[in-house]
Amino acid sequence: MELLKQRIMKDGLVKAGNVLKVDSFLNHQMDIALFSEIGKEFYRRFMDCDVTKILTIEASGIGIACVTAQFFHVPVVFAKKSQSKNIDGEVFTSRVESFTHGRVYDIIVSKKFLGPDDRVLIIDDFLAKGSALEGLCKLVQDSGAELVGAGIVIEKGFQEGGKLIRGHGVRVESLAIIDRMDDVTGEIFFRP
Ligand code: 5GP
Repeated sequence: MELLKQRIMKDGLVKAGNVLKVDSFLNHQMDIALFSEIGKEFYRRFMDCDVTKILTIEASGIGIACVTAQFFHVPVVFAKKSQSKNIDGEVFTSRVESFTHGRVYDIIVSKKFLGPDDRVLIIDDFLAKGSALEGLCKLVQDSGAELVGAGIVIEKGFQEGGKLIRGHGVRVESLAIIDRMDDVTGEIFFRP
């Protein structure tokens, strides 16, 4: 998605440790006009999939998921990050390792909001090592819902997440895939 790539080039900051900072337009301050174009593009790619629900993970996926949901006219469910050791039986749960914070946490979704009648589109801001997306896929699988695919805003193609999740047979659509970035020069190279 050209508009997104241009924005990443203009305002994205490459940090040490393979981290791309996009907090001026994507995951801290949010450019809603851009979100709207992102939502339209996800809709264009998944409009024929009879999506009944969009699933994301707190916090940074929520804004993009909500704007996207306006094009699909479906509810958004976000997985909550939970510290709690004794999670009751009323939730689907899985374990996620945070790329940016380097710790492990549980994510939960109430059984009230995902079930066998659902056709789920997962939306998230980044795909890096794939742990967040894998955790979300497991929640969908456990609920008996059909996973139609995952829409990712920025995939870091030089990390293993894309290969891992596509290897499970999941359709992953990323709007910008970065093949290489350099924290010394600040250069970002996209997959054509
Ligand atoms: P993964 O589980 O695929 O390793 O990482 C995905 C999650 O980590 C995303 O939901 C995102 O919040 C965060 N993340 C991964 N890489 C980056 C990055 O380069 N920049 C930012 N801002 N967040 C990232």
